[in-house]
Amino acid sequence: MIDDFISLFFPRLCLGCNGTLLKGEKQVCIHCYTNAENTDSHLDKENFIKQKFYGKVDVSLALAYFVFLKGGIVQHLLHNLKYENQPELGLELGMRYASELLNYSEEWPFELIVPVPLHRSKLKLRGYNQSEEFANGLACTLNIPVNNALKRIKATTTQTSKSKLERWKNVDQIFEVIDKEVVGKHILLVDDVITTGSTLESCIQTLNAAGASEVSVMAIAAAK
Ligand SMILES: [Zn+2]
Repeated sequence: MIDDFISLFFPRLCLGCNGTLLKGEKQVCIHCYTNAENTDSHLDKENFIKQKFYGKVDVSLALAYFVFLKGGIVQHLLHNLKYENQPELGLELGMRYASELLNYSEEWPFELIVPVPLHRSKLKLRGYNQSEEFANGLACTLNIPVNNALKRIKATTTQTSKSKLERWKNVDQIFEVIDKEVVGKHILLVDDVITTGSTLESCIQTLNAAGASEVSVMAIAAAK
């Protein structure tokens, strides 16, 4: 009742399209969920996301909720999640995507969810790690623990112009494992968006070097 009264004067807006949210809608309206393109990556083990890692690192499963398109709803959602102080959006998308995955199959092989970390200077500025929020949403629905086992020790990743060998040599300087919980486990590495995959590649190499048995990746969105 009070909520209805408040929303009459301060309508809650959809973080995808800025339209007014209806009762029962959280952060994102039903039209945006319908219009955002799903990757359907869970239906194809050798999907376009996994192909980004071919010849670089081994990835067991590569999954993303939406296809990332410049100027689309998904870019708007990610912008709000990262820059407009909307950590709950990450949680909501994580829970929703995990529910869809559980509807498809009740058996997922992941043992530990590890978010891609922000450098501490960026974390201080933003106040939260958007990938960790998404990871927390996934974790509470999939019932798998989250562990911030990776630490970013270099503020920026400038890997794209480097050769494969140079990238390999560069790995240790970007991330490090700070919790031995990863040893012998199938890790679900979680990021907000996958474009080239080079950040994830560095994380995977670091996790493998620390003794993880397998690594799968998951993101809110992936660029084709
Ligand atoms: Zn919307």
